[in-house]
Amino acid sequence: MSGLVDSHCHIPLLSDEMEVDSILDEAKNNNIIHMLCVAVDLEGSPEIIALAKQYEMVSASVGVHPNTQHENGLVVDDITSLGSNDNVVAIGETGLDYFRSEGDLEWQRDQFRTHITAAKELKKPLIIHSREAKVDVIQILKEEKADKVGGVMHCFVDDLETAKAAIDLDFLISFSGIVTFKNAKPLQEVARQISLKNMLIETDSPYLAPTPLRGKVNQPAYVRYVAEFLAELKEETLENIALNTTKNYEEKFNKINNL
Ligand SMILES: [Zn+2]
Ligand SMILES: [Zn+2]
Repeated sequence: MSGLVDSHCHIPLLSDEMEVDSILDEAKNNNIIHMLCVAVDLEGSPEIIALAKQYEMVSASVGVHPNTQHENGLVVDDITSLGSNDNVVAIGETGLDYFRSEGDLEWQRDQFRTHITAAKELKKPLIIHSREAKVDVIQILKEEKADKVGGVMHCFVDDLETAKAAIDLDFLISFSGIVTFKNAKPLQEVARQISLKNMLIETDSPYLAPTPLRGKVNQPAYVRYVAEFLAELKEETLENIALNTTKNYEEKFNKINNL
């Protein structure tokens, strides 16, 4: 059986609950062979880079979440200086969040553009966070020519039209535990219609534990529930889900050692 990749997790946020070694052991015991640990602010990025350096099964990203508002925004150099590290395989998470945002939306859009510029400079793919902002996200990706690097629409919850627009710009569509929720019928329909060639799976742990563990603290091991759910939904074998999503991850982000 091919191994699974958790394309989006936050180990530092989870390590209050669990030791890093047990997070990774639990993942290995559930056939997870790799995980991309995603930054939400610049201050936390060195810790994530250190994790990726220490553990072969972890890769790192560098970026600032749209809800992490700083008084002074980042400039491109802030991202490229950390992002040039060999253990960093992606830039993000970046994007737009109009749902949780209390702050300045123009600030978010400006920072999003800055991340895209940095990613193009580094030639590394982007991790996009989009919430209640699908039109602006796609428009900015187009305006800034983000298709030069592509990346992933993480924790995808938008409609099929948005998914197709993102795929056209060379972005993969990543499904989290949300797709397993009972009330996620429209999203399940989107997942049914998207080709396995364009899909990734993720936990976004410690958030969003999939059914049947909804409400619990999530961890990378639980990405197998997302994979199992998608297999049933798409009437595919679990092997096919694993094979395709892992290959997609490798082609877009990085070579997984010992695969
Ligand atoms: Zn996110
Ligand atoms: Zn995240």
